[in-house]
Amino acid sequence: MKHSKLDSILQKALSGRQLDDNDLLVLFEEKDAEAVKEIASAADSLNLEINSDKVSYVVNRNINFTNICGLNCKFCGYKRTKKSKDAFLLDYDKILEKIYEGKKQIGIDEICVTGGINPELKLNPGYYFNLIETVRKNFPDLHIHAFSPQEIYELSLSAGKSYSAVIEKLKGCGLDSMPGTAAEILAPEIRKKICPKKIDTKTWVEIIKTAHALGVKTSATVLFGHLESPRDLAYHLGLIRSIQDETAGFTEFIALPFISFKTSLKNKVDETLIKDTDKAFKFYAILRLYLDNFKNIQTSWPKIGVSAAVKSLSCGVNDFGGTLMEENITKSAGGNFGEYLSEGEIINLIQKVGKNPVRRDTIYNYINAGACACAVNDGDKRLFNV
Ligand code: SF4
Repeated sequence: MKHSKLDSILQKALSGRQLDDNDLLVLFEEKDAEAVKEIASAADSLNLEINSDKVSYVVNRNINFTNICGLNCKFCGYKRTKKSKDAFLLDYDKILEKIYEGKKQIGIDEICVTGGINPELKLNPGYYFNLIETVRKNFPDLHIHAFSPQEIYELSLSAGKSYSAVIEKLKGCGLDSMPGTAAEILAPEIRKKICPKKIDTKTWVEIIKTAHALGVKTSATVLFGHLESPRDLAYHLGLIRSIQDETAGFTEFIALPFISFKTSLKNKVDETLIKDTDKAFKFYAILRLYLDNFKNIQTSWPKIGVSAAVKSLSCGVNDFGGTLMEENITKSAGGNFGEYLSEGEIINLIQKVGKNPVRRDTIYNYINAGACACAVNDGDKRLFNV
């Protein structure tokens, strides 16, 4: 019984009992190659029990409407100042053109809209509301997934409205759901180090809970592989899991490995997860075992690469993410795994590893032919409130 402690933790997770923070730290600190394989195998079994062989994906387009930002997060390679040669702020015509293109070329079901914290927009909060309203008028059936808690915070300040009033107004304009980005790492000390100007943990949590209370679902995210310790990650995941217990408002958990190449943290990080994707696989597996109230764990092909993303499907991951069409954030930080995968490519990749690809919408209703929304619960033995 070389790994008796590990075995009992894995058994605990597989029998549906919630892991505690000590269990989580044991999993994070496990380095033995055989033990790590056991962790991945347990996560795979649990995922099969929850999602059978289904791997979902979304046909979507990212729209980053501005790269001008006044915040200066240390992990960011995307932000520009107004004077930068490649600085931009898209007007509505350009945004609509991108959506038409996405509709025409690949039949997108969703747009994901986020941007830098552009100081000019502080004087013009109407830009955000009118953006959503304009898109909704032109595309009544499109799912609009837009604006992180950081953007809601800035909008609340500049419009002089509460978070709930801002989110309600955006909903009235046509907003469907929000990305749970700007979470980065929620452990306060390390958060201050890597993004000192971003909203603090308490504010992020308040905005997310407000969105959930108003019926606006969000994703949950973490940025990992920078300066954080296992304890920081445990804090982050514990907080996210407790919010999900309270609100059931998260649709999925997305783990975002840090890409350091063109960021100011570049020389402070020993090795990136790109060079050691086994670390990412182990992390995905731990997420499946620890986040017992999440049905959906999403991989990130732009960050770890397509073949590693495919491999992660046997480590507890059940969602391949989106077609994206364009991807600026990771690319700007030095990621070079591309910006677009067609639906056909995604289907082939999933099928090649013996899994069953299923097209979904943003909130995880299955929408492809032959797999109706009722199939969401097919094979589930646990109850999820997504
Ligand atoms: S991560 Fe976002 S908020 Fe932070 S500097 Fe980059 S663009 Fe600005």
